[in-house]
Amino acid sequence: MKHVDRDMLAESEDLLKVIGKLQLAVAASQMGVWEYDEATNSVHWDDRMLEIYGITDGMNKRPDDFWERHIHPDDIDDMIAYSEECRRENKDFKRDYRIIREDGKVRYIRSLARNISAPGEPSKLVGVNIDVTEDYRRADELKRAQTKLQHDARHDALTGLGNRRALDEVTMEAFSLMGQRDRFCLVLIDLDHFKEVNDSLGHLAGDFILTSVGEILRSTVEKFDIPGTAFRVGGDEFAIFFPTAPSDEDMITLCEALVYLVGSPMTFQGEDCYIGASIGYAFGVGPPKNPSTIFSEADAALYEAKRNGRSGYRAYRREFDLKPAAATNTRRDLLNALANDEFICHYQPQFDAETLSIVGAEALVRWNCPQRGLLPPARFLQAAAEMNLIEDIDDHVFRHVAKQQTRWHEEGLDYPTIALNTSANRLRAPEFVPAVDQVLRPHHKIAVELLETAFLDEIDKETQDNLDKIRERGIRIDLDDFGSGHSSVAALQAIKPHQAKIDRSLVAPLEENPRQMMTLRALCRIARLAQAKTVIEGMENGMLLAATRYLDCDVLQGYALQRPMPAADFAALLRRGAVD
Ligand code: C2E
Ligand code: MG
Ligand code: MG
Repeated sequence: MKHVDRDMLAESEDLLKVIGKLQLAVAASQMGVWEYDEATNSVHWDDRMLEIYGITDGMNKRPDDFWERHIHPDDIDDMIAYSEECRRENKDFKRDYRIIREDGKVRYIRSLARNISAPGEPSKLVGVNIDVTEDYRRADELKRAQTKLQHDARHDALTGLGNRRALDEVTMEAFSLMGQRDRFCLVLIDLDHFKEVNDSLGHLAGDFILTSVGEILRSTVEKFDIPGTAFRVGGDEFAIFFPTAPSDEDMITLCEALVYLVGSPMTFQGEDCYIGASIGYAFGVGPPKNPSTIFSEADAALYEAKRNGRSGYRAYRREFDLKPAAATNTRRDLLNALANDEFICHYQPQFDAETLSIVGAEALVRWNCPQRGLLPPARFLQAAAEMNLIEDIDDHVFRHVAKQQTRWHEEGLDYPTIALNTSANRLRAPEFVPAVDQVLRPHHKIAVELLETAFLDEIDKETQDNLDKIRERGIRIDLDDFGSGHSSVAALQAIKPHQAKIDRSLVAPLEENPRQMMTLRALCRIARLAQAKTVIEGMENGMLLAATRYLDCDVLQGYALQRPMPAADFAALLRRGAVD
């Protein structure tokens, strides 16, 4: 008997150990344990259960509807139905739901329970509750982070508009839902002069402009009768997509409004910024076989808008397709080249005709193209002119030279006036003088060279005003290609240049035709009468150089004297020779 007692004692000690371990495990797992006995209709909650539900009275025996009273009103119906189902079908209970604790706080609970009664007997349920609020909070955070990530991948952070990827997705989705006769419209918008503002006033001003344009697009599209969405698809490129196309008249109204709003001056830190919008749009009917077609067509229309002068708009027409694809490429290439600072200058010295000392230089643009090497103007200026990008290039060159002179100034180098070729469009533009003011400093010595052929028609008021203003700022004005146009005298009178450059095309024939000397002499005399100095360009060889002795000219420029050269070579030449 004693023996049996000892065995039983040992067994119950083992049992107590196991129970103790179990209790530890339960406590560590933060689980609350409950039991329900249908026979006695009693519910028992352990202390952890009370804790989870925020109960402080310490009573482990609870009324049988106590649990239901704590379930969140939004979850209660579902939970009652589910627990009924488990009881009826004798299934394990396993659900997450919300409770409202005694202190009013909402918690997520994971409940697991099992019916341990024998079949046919009254139910006996044992279950655990775990507070999984933290898991839900984390999952929610993760979901929000994921949503934000997805949002960011499709949106431009600066303007909040959808980006290129979003546009692709939105168009693809619209195409997938589209009927064969549904008309849609894609609009592409490119900002004019954005680069100038960005370069002259800095990136903050650039960001401000982009944000403002984003807002203009968003609000204009919102107010428009036909639902559409605006996107920012590149640096200064925007788009609007209409899954259902507006009418032609509506498109004109929209474009007029956008051109006007974007073209109105925007004030950043007291500075008026002038930009413009060029717009191209294309209509499509039914889901396109090749979705990129509508983009190419809108781009071709945009190209036409740019070509026909800035701040305008064009609807795509079939004949635009006749443009070689290369032209569109070149526009992209040129825009990229501008953005990547690929345009540089070479300097061709100009010499005093008598002393042959350096009295000036002409800055000649070169495209330092990473793929094609160093390109002369003949390889890209024509294309740039057709795409209305000459003004941007001229502005770039102007800043480039100003920066170079500042460097020379800081190095203590005595440099002469540098002449910049300036297109007539730039000279006429309202942003020309503000751009000059942004850059010009007292140590800069700049001249602008204007093509005589640009002034065949009467010089307009805008040009005249701008000429006066830059003259006031100490910028010298030279007339380029003098004698090659039909109204040399008229141009001289209207522009009153400091120097007139006699065009190379008039100098070259001297070699074969000595009578050409008469023409050159006459031109020199005309210039002199208009109180302009004369520069003779294209002094290609010694023979031409010798011929100029018989001419009453002041300055010579040509390969026979020096070819155009990089800034460093020009600086070295200056250091060696005297500057007048
Ligand atoms: P341009 O203003 O008449 O410039 C003179 C051109 O004649 C330069 O050609 C120069 O290299 C070339 N040249 C100079 N001396 C001689 C010579 O003795 N013999 C020969 N055969 N050529 C000589 P480049 O650099 O190819 O420039 C061509 C034109 O491109 C320029 O003619 C100018 O109209 C335009 N250009 C150059 N840079 C710019 C610029 O920054 N902006 C604008 N709008 N046009 C520019
Ligand atoms: Mg020139
Ligand atoms: Mg010239």
